[in-house]
Amino acid sequence: MKIKKIGVVGVGTMGHGISQMAAQSGFEVWFRDKDDERTKKGRGKIEQNWDRLIEKGKMTADQKKEATSRLNLCTSLQDLASVDLVIEAITENRDLKQNLFRELNGIIQKEAVFASNTSSISITQLAASSGRPEKFVGMHFFNPVPVMALVEVIRGLQTSDESYQAVFDVAKGMGKTPAAVKDSPGFAVNRLLLPMINEAFFLLYEGVADAKTIDEVMKLGANHPMGPLALADFVGLDVTLAAMEVLQRDLGDDKYRPCPLLRKYVESGRYGKKTGRGVYDYNS
Ligand code: NAD
Repeated sequence: MKIKKIGVVGVGTMGHGISQMAAQSGFEVWFRDKDDERTKKGRGKIEQNWDRLIEKGKMTADQKKEATSRLNLCTSLQDLASVDLVIEAITENRDLKQNLFRELNGIIQKEAVFASNTSSISITQLAASSGRPEKFVGMHFFNPVPVMALVEVIRGLQTSDESYQAVFDVAKGMGKTPAAVKDSPGFAVNRLLLPMINEAFFLLYEGVADAKTIDEVMKLGANHPMGPLALADFVGLDVTLAAMEVLQRDLGDDKYRPCPLLRKYVESGRYGKKTGRGVYDYNS
């Protein structure tokens, strides 16, 4: 199975990066967010990224032109009908994702493979409601997509070898390093990373240290390139909370209980960098 055309649904933090890398790597890309305005905003971010690469001498104007010609902005999900692979990158919510895959199953050609970029939700469960469980694969990119080398590739209970291999090959074709990971809440990276971030919120909540100190000690003491609270702002506090809730529920263990302070920030609309405020304030 050779994938040439890729559809991306959801062009927020992850979806725009996935679309960018796919178009840069020679795939034809069709992308769509909830509405036209958000879809255009996604394209704007991709163009900005390419302009920055040109400024740094890492891309030529001709390469940008070519990549742009492979990038198709969609005005409806119907425009994705002929893609070979669709990568879903919408909000981390099981019901929303299941509804979307049901809808896509009625639109997209039967041979196409479905992939989800979920951070934590069961691939087997999403596959079950997709109408094509044997053609359903987890494809977990990392943020920012153009920079991070890893893609976790996750097989659901019914995923066929052919679909799995096709997604593995697409990850490689996008210049990434795919890693085979079993379908388990949070897969491998987030099972390790999110509890650490959540624990950083507990330190802040209990007043053990202030936010800057917590981030600084992990940079200086554990050699992390970025502190856990700054990382949470970068990932999105809403995404972090939703994924911790999945870990707690699906692993059935309260050691994954989201920190009440993380929940309060999300309730107040402080989602992190993307909204201008999370643990830190990005407006000033
Ligand atoms: P985001 O909030 O930045 O973007 C989500 C986008 O999906 C928004 O633009 C929203 O308008 C759109 N959307 C919501 N419902 C939609 C629908 N029905 N149809 C079309 N578009 C819809 O979120 P994000 O950080 O990009 O996360 C997207 C997915 O990627 C989530 O499953 C998340 O867990 C996963 N993920 C996130 C990160 C990260 O660091 N942020 C890393 C890896 C995976």
